[in-house]
Amino acid sequence: MKNSGFIDTVMEILHKEVQQYKVPVVDLIGVQTKDPYKILVSTILSARTKDETTAKAASRLFKKAPNLQSLAKLTKEEIGQLIFPVGFYNIKAAHLKKLPEALKAFGSKVPDDLDGLLTLPGVGRKTANLVLSVAFNKPAICVDTHVHRIMNIWGYVQTGTPFETEMVLRDELPHNHWQRINSILVAFGQKICLPVAPCCDICVIEHLCPQIGVTPRKIGKKRKAMYGKNTKTIISWNVNGLRALEKKGFAETAKELDADILALQEIKAAPAQLSESIKNLTGYTSFWNSASRKGYAGVCIYSRIEPRNVLYGLGLDQYDQEGRVLTLEFEDFFLINAYFPNAQHGLTRLDYKLDFNRDLLAFANNLAKEKSVVLGGDFNVAHKSIDLRNPKENEKNPGFTAEERAWMDSFLQAGFLDTFRMFNQDPDNYTWWSYRFNARARNIGWRIDYFCVDKKSENRVVDASILKDILGSDHCPVQLFFK
Ligand code: SF4
Repeated sequence: MKNSGFIDTVMEILHKEVQQYKVPVVDLIGVQTKDPYKILVSTILSARTKDETTAKAASRLFKKAPNLQSLAKLTKEEIGQLIFPVGFYNIKAAHLKKLPEALKAFGSKVPDDLDGLLTLPGVGRKTANLVLSVAFNKPAICVDTHVHRIMNIWGYVQTGTPFETEMVLRDELPHNHWQRINSILVAFGQKICLPVAPCCDICVIEHLCPQIGVTPRKIGKKRKAMYGKNTKTIISWNVNGLRALEKKGFAETAKELDADILALQEIKAAPAQLSESIKNLTGYTSFWNSASRKGYAGVCIYSRIEPRNVLYGLGLDQYDQEGRVLTLEFEDFFLINAYFPNAQHGLTRLDYKLDFNRDLLAFANNLAKEKSVVLGGDFNVAHKSIDLRNPKENEKNPGFTAEERAWMDSFLQAGFLDTFRMFNQDPDNYTWWSYRFNARARNIGWRIDYFCVDKKSENRVVDASILKDILGSDHCPVQLFFK
């Protein structure tokens, strides 16, 4: 057996770390039910399926089939309908249909040994070990792809398959880790030590990990440290639907962005439609201004700094019902988060947009009389030819019409500064790409998201950039360092 120092230390740290994460679904069902039948069935369902999907499918199935007897009464088709859309639902439905018959050999009970479990339809070593561990509390090592992968990253094993890893771990791993290794490493592997581009920069065991064969994710330089503790990181992002982004890992991305203030546009949701963890991102207070129309527009701000005051909208009903503006007043500046209207195909909303632009500028000018103003958001306009890949073709299209660009001219002439252009005069810097034509990969985009500040705050701007590598929406975030 190996020296247990390394594994004891990392398991201790990760045991504490993963308590903050969602519990893997099979463990959750184990804790909630202690029922070997439900643990076995949910383990079968969970293969190649996301935890959320497994949890919903298991809940539907257990409502109709809370035990083996009721499962036996369902047809394969009924089971398939109940567990859809778990991965390979047809095959799993066939396995589950055969399960009551197969369990007769064990007195219609789930067997509590590896050999017995391996005779059941749809049960391989991984499933069997997980059932032994979760349902029967027996020392078993369940090696799935996360355990296999992370053990190799740590150099604890040098193996080619999960089966080889299991065999080595049976010899090498101290027994006290057998039962918990799977739930800890699955949770950790889903959240931090991801299969592609793991988040080594925020990993609690980075100092211990040899990172064998790993290419960590690339994030922007942690420039805040260079800029001093009074510099605030402010990020604006049109997320094109916060509920959709949650499924793509918004909580992890927000952690990665590490902003002091994170302003989102086009959230397309009211707080009541969002999960608690998204409404209350750890470390932030959140503020919301959703549209009255469901699933449309809307803005929100997460802030680590407590504002003095919150202003909802512009005080003008025609815009405020669309949830387009949210302003936080801090001690020495206002942050306006704005989602400018789109002029729309055929320019049907151009007049509405120009009215909004005019009224927003008046609002910002008014606030700027009092203290600094930072105006960030999706302006829905590319200002100059340098700000989009195909200016000629788009001259009459929404977002690049002469009228919209003229307003942007007048906005800058009124004294506001486009902070990105204070630092970067290069072409090919975009913040939005169509979902069509592989536009993002080909960088056929538009720069329509901005941070602007009033003229007298120019020397408070430390840096501004575009975070083009952050995925999850058709826009990427833009960032401002402001002191
Ligand atoms: S440092 Fe990176 S590779 Fe190592 S465990 Fe952490 S996330 Fe995984």
